[in-house]
Amino acid sequence: MNEPLTEKAIQQWLREEDPSRLDALWHWADQVRRENVGDAVHLRGLIEISNYCSRQCGYCGLRAANTDLERYRMSSEEILECAHEAARYRYGTVVMQAGEDYGIEAEWLAEIVFRIKMETPLAVTLSMGERPDNDLRRWREAGADRYLLRFETSDPELFAAIHPPHPARPAQNRLEILRTLRRLGYEVGSGVMIGIPGQSYESLAHDIATFRELGLDMVGVGPYISHPSTPLGEGAAIQPLEPGQQVPNTELMTYKVVALTRLVCPRANIPSTTALATLNLASGRELGLQRGANVIMPNMTPPKYRALYQIYPAKACIQETSQECRICLQGRIQSIGRTVGSGPGGRTKT
Ligand code: SAH
Repeated sequence: MNEPLTEKAIQQWLREEDPSRLDALWHWADQVRRENVGDAVHLRGLIEISNYCSRQCGYCGLRAANTDLERYRMSSEEILECAHEAARYRYGTVVMQAGEDYGIEAEWLAEIVFRIKMETPLAVTLSMGERPDNDLRRWREAGADRYLLRFETSDPELFAAIHPPHPARPAQNRLEILRTLRRLGYEVGSGVMIGIPGQSYESLAHDIATFRELGLDMVGVGPYISHPSTPLGEGAAIQPLEPGQQVPNTELMTYKVVALTRLVCPRANIPSTTALATLNLASGRELGLQRGANVIMPNMTPPKYRALYQIYPAKACIQETSQECRICLQGRIQSIGRTVGSGPGGRTKT
């Protein structure tokens, strides 16, 4: 089992239904996780700083055309307060995420990044969408350590169908942006949604092989969850696949992808995502951690904004305070015999 997994083998695993074979996959992924990144589970405090968005992604509830959604943008004081709270909780990292919101000016966010770096020991991760190179450069200069931008699917036709170009900005290619981020010295994270309408087994296997090719430092994968106020949620016409080709957006499929991601990117930081917890609130996070993942992103967004960051409906943990999330997640980590990571928990060298 030591030669690299081929795309064909990945596809076979994605189609595997035999419980004992799947048990072997979970054990394999768990062992590779333990050998490469250890037992520590790193906590990244997630601050959803704005739900404004200028894009029209077919899958996402933040899309500009969704007028049912009340919009918010946090003030710099509110963001800094959350970052200090994350530092008090001894989280190693804060992740600031938003819709692609050009109301977030590069200089304004650079100042916030700079202050977090000056005032706390935290690593700073950004996830602001397809911003121009100059903005990415400015934030890196201000001290940002990492950037997350999922490529969502490696199938260019499917991507074009679910992710229309920005109406007023030059077309950008997410894979190209990932290379730019690397050149700028960021630790780079990407990932995909699992079970988007039109996603075939072949294309998901290619996504996973692409994680390996890109040499990602972080890989986030989660189930696609239909949002009624989006074109995909309303059943927009996507080229239908032959019977038996569509990947289901299930909990089981998500575990398979988490496990295979660990096998192709042994040293990557891989979160057990909120979308997975949304499918199985009782034990989704723990099972993700036992099948390849080593990171959890507790939500630090102030409760008054949380429910409004609705990329998909019924997101897990939208009622809890940051304090409650911290206690709940630490308990879950310890209950499966793992430890809470200390320090920023960045890229581990090979
Ligand atoms: N604007 C940023 C952040 C988007 S939200 C960006 O585009 O990168 C972060 C991730 O949530 C997206 O990359 C996408 O993979 C995921 N997401 C969006 N809508 C979703 C849905 N309906 N179901 C599951 N995941 C979704």
